[in-house]
Amino acid sequence: MTVAEILQESLRIPSDLYTGAAASYLVFVTSPQVSVLVVEDDPGIATQLVRGLERAGYTADSVAMGAEALRRPASDVVLLDLGLPDVDGIDVCRRLRASSDTAIIVVTARGEEADRVLALDEGADDYLVKPFGLAELLARIRAVLRRGHRTVGGTAEVLRHGPLTVDLRTRKVTMSGTEVALTPKEFAILECLATDPGRLISRQEIVERAWDEHWYGPTKVLDVHLAALRRKIGEPSLIETVYGHGFRLADRPAVPADQ
Ligand code: CA
Repeated sequence: MTVAEILQESLRIPSDLYTGAAASYLVFVTSPQVSVLVVEDDPGIATQLVRGLERAGYTADSVAMGAEALRRPASDVVLLDLGLPDVDGIDVCRRLRASSDTAIIVVTARGEEADRVLALDEGADDYLVKPFGLAELLARIRAVLRRGHRTVGGTAEVLRHGPLTVDLRTRKVTMSGTEVALTPKEFAILECLATDPGRLISRQEIVERAWDEHWYGPTKVLDVHLAALRRKIGEPSLIETVYGHGFRLADRPAVPADQ
């Protein structure tokens, strides 16, 4: 598979973006592969999921028992069936969450709201009711990896875009090698933009991710933080405003001549 195909299939980056600004995306793609553990006792479903995940560029493996899932070293993402032969999936979810920050997506035939609430309360990041399509599952995986401050492959992700670097583990930001001190909110906004450079991100999405998942209030507060963020970064063209829509990191950020 070529790099272009991997980009298109696993990240769904439109071709016009990766041809022009491949360098910033490549950092993301060549960082350690994301590992996914499928906890599923139906061998047919488990095999299908593992194959689909591998085709999408993930490292995938499956186990049929809850106890086995708990013995495994932590993977980046766990797809967890609730109806397991040995332990209840909810129990597995609770114990996984207690010991790691693995992204947990519950995948089950139980579609009742009470089950979903219970799983989310016990630490699941998302919930998918069978039957579901692989495309939706892959989108949910990308979403849980974007949210929160997950590390991939046990090492921190450092997002690079032109002169900008955002270290998600140390929460350090640099511009052309000089550290930029940001408030937690400013960092959260920048992280949101830098995780997916070039993508237009709506005001609502930034506010939901940087403040609260269930923010229904006005998004005016964002402008204050964004203005401060732009000023501190000192490169006004880096964060583009698309009036009436939202913001994005510029596709082709200016790179200083000495780099
Ligand atoms: Ca099952």
